[in-house]
Amino acid sequence: QPPICECHSCYGGPDCSQFFPHCSVNANGGDPLFLEPFWVQHAASSAVVIAGWHRMSYLHADQTQISQVLESHIRKLHDTVGNAVTQGRYILFGVGSTQLLNAAVYALSPYNASSPARVVASIPFYPVYEAQTTLFRSMDFRFEGDASLWKNYSDTNTDIIEFVTSPNNPDGQLNEAVLQGRNVKAIYDRAYYWPHFTAIPAPADEEVMLFTLSKLTGHAGSRFGWAVLKDEATYQRMKSYLQLTVMGVSRETQLRALQLLKVVLQGGKDIFEFGHETMRKRWERLSKTMSMSKRFSVQKIPPQYCTFFHKVREASPAYAWVKCEREEDKDCYAVLQAGNITGRPGGLFFAGDRYVRLSLIRSQDDFDLLILKLNQLVHEEDDRQ
Ligand code: PMP
Repeated sequence: QPPICECHSCYGGPDCSQFFPHCSVNANGGDPLFLEPFWVQHAASSAVVIAGWHRMSYLHADQTQISQVLESHIRKLHDTVGNAVTQGRYILFGVGSTQLLNAAVYALSPYNASSPARVVASIPFYPVYEAQTTLFRSMDFRFEGDASLWKNYSDTNTDIIEFVTSPNNPDGQLNEAVLQGRNVKAIYDRAYYWPHFTAIPAPADEEVMLFTLSKLTGHAGSRFGWAVLKDEATYQRMKSYLQLTVMGVSRETQLRALQLLKVVLQGGKDIFEFGHETMRKRWERLSKTMSMSKRFSVQKIPPQYCTFFHKVREASPAYAWVKCEREEDKDCYAVLQAGNITGRPGGLFFAGDRYVRLSLIRSQDDFDLLILKLNQLVHEEDDRQ
């Protein structure tokens, strides 16, 4: 039997060498396959084998040896990268950081108060904050949308929970909380705070910080995230949420995460040099294409000093946040779709239809095709003029 060959959607034929010029390129999802070549290079050292009789028991979050070893590797990793303070902090595992988002909202909300906590974020923001908070329809919290509308809110009896995504999905900016006050609590979503995607100006030191393996090693399918927490009461409430919903993170997942982190730590700066170089080159190519266009623009991210690389480094964001500049291009998603590029509509990020997010973290094939299609669109502009 010949091996079953799975071709990229733009290629076909028995050996995947036939190119379909009119195919549509997927720049929609945030699947971080840009890191796949790194793991191909480390195939043997990153492999995990588990015998059938091994690790069969229920686990109690912090009582198993594997969890403790994994936690110490996470602390070591943050120390090495310098992207988060973990000394004297609690660490809690989740099924991806997706599960930790709502665990944190639950933990920071008042119990049985007369007024539910208002959950807010700065536009443009990651849509899951709204979707999840709405899905659970709790008496204790409610999604309220744009954080900036709450700047002058003076009723200190109402708790506010602000999601801060830094670097931000979709626009890569190193956001900070816009709300302050005794009744305001922030959840810092640090999914992209790794040298692949941003300069690391200083270790993050917020009350509630969320990280994920998905954007660090690229293993989004393993569903592993962690929270770094200052406050013990918040830690205990999040822990009971995790206990009641999933009874802890799969031990197979923990074992895989541990093996991957071992390889990351043994390699020193390797994965970050690979990640940053890949993403920086992609951003450079995209910026070059966009600089020739009057029809489209992308976000600006200035070079910044990075304490990890000990130098000023160029931008390397995970997503391009594209704006259609022409008056008639009101639906930017449709404009790109007509050029065979599938992005994610700006409306989903509460930013309006003039914007589209293009994922830059997918496979090299997807990225090369994205640039090809974008170049075609930009050249069509010249033909029109
Ligand atoms: N936060 C942000 C800002 C994200 O972009 C993502 C993934 N796209 C997540 C959280 C969730 O990641 P995961 O559940 O895979 O850890």
